Amino acid sequence: MLHLPKRIATIGSHSALQILKGAKDEGFETICICEKKRVKPYKMFPVADEIIEVDSFKDFLKIEKELIKRDAIVIPHGSFVEYLGVEKIKKLKVDHYGTKKILDWESDRGKQQKWLTSAKIKMPQIFKRPEEITKPVIVKFHGARGGRGYFLANSPEEFYKKIAQHPCERDYVIQEYVVGVPIYVHYFYSRLNDELEIMGFDKRYESNADSIGRVAAADQITANIQTSYTIVGNIPLVVRESMLPYFIKIGERVVAESQRMEAPGLFGPFCLEGIVTQDLILTVFEISARIVAGTNPYTNGSPYTCLRYNEPMSTGRRIARDIKQAIERNQLEKVLG
Ligand code: AMP
Repeated sequence: MLHLPKRIATIGSHSALQILKGAKDEGFETICICEKKRVKPYKMFPVADEIIEVDSFKDFLKIEKELIKRDAIVIPHGSFVEYLGVEKIKKLKVDHYGTKKILDWESDRGKQQKWLTSAKIKMPQIFKRPEEITKPVIVKFHGARGGRGYFLANSPEEFYKKIAQHPCERDYVIQEYVVGVPIYVHYFYSRLNDELEIMGFDKRYESNADSIGRVAAADQITANIQTSYTIVGNIPLVVRESMLPYFIKIGERVVAESQRMEAPGLFGPFCLEGIVTQDLILTVFEISARIVAGTNPYTNGSPYTCLRYNEPMSTGRRIARDIKQAIERNQLEKVLG
């Protein structure tokens, strides 16, 4: 096997198990940076050749030199961005898979909206002020905290009553509540072959939204049960085959628009997160410009990657394959950013 000069590193959370397994399958040595209190899964599942323990992920910068010495490429995931923050990530000197430029577009709601609407993606209506609420809305607090604390409101009065329970929250968005089924579309776009792939789909398993239907409406009212959207896990999904052309088309538009707005544009894994309404249109409430945890059910490949690859191909492995091919073609700069 080709001697791979690079190691693959990530922090132990989110989709690290899948990323490291995929990297090993492609022949890389792997490093997992773990918080001491959360190290056990990374010892139980032997996907890391080396574990670097830190007291807190906030100490990541202290070990950056070690990673550079080991020729590591860091793979970002949702928790990586949450724990380090966009500004620190931008300053990292260690090799980083994927473009950092897109982080600004992703973390700024205004820019994200401009990006997606320019790509002709349908998005939920945003209410700038609570007084403007005229239909059911979902109120979301900023930061990837797995839906914790989100609430629904039907009127300005209901909004003020419920927001009073979150006195410390100043940064939130009031979005139209879209009725349909939630779907998360996992894509991969490689700059090396200029091709978009559908890697899979998932839906989230959210507490208590996914079990509230087990309680009769009358009981929900008497028990004063409020809907919440705290994510607990991910459920694999396949879509109607006739919808695939549509999902491919919107994914291609998102990539093309990203290239127009900030070269070299988005590459690697990304995810459109939204609600499919009964007219079979995806209303996208968020884009993740990196691997999402919804790919975790597919450590051994998804029903879609199975059609394209003659071997188990997870999104984590696809990332490692991208890096490996870039090394082989002497084009590593094309996958780093
Ligand atoms: P998010 O943190 O943005 O991924 O949202 C968490 C969950 O809230 C989603 O999985 C959906 O179940 C629900 N959700 C978010 N935005 C909307 C929306 N605009 N309309 C309906 N449901 C939503």
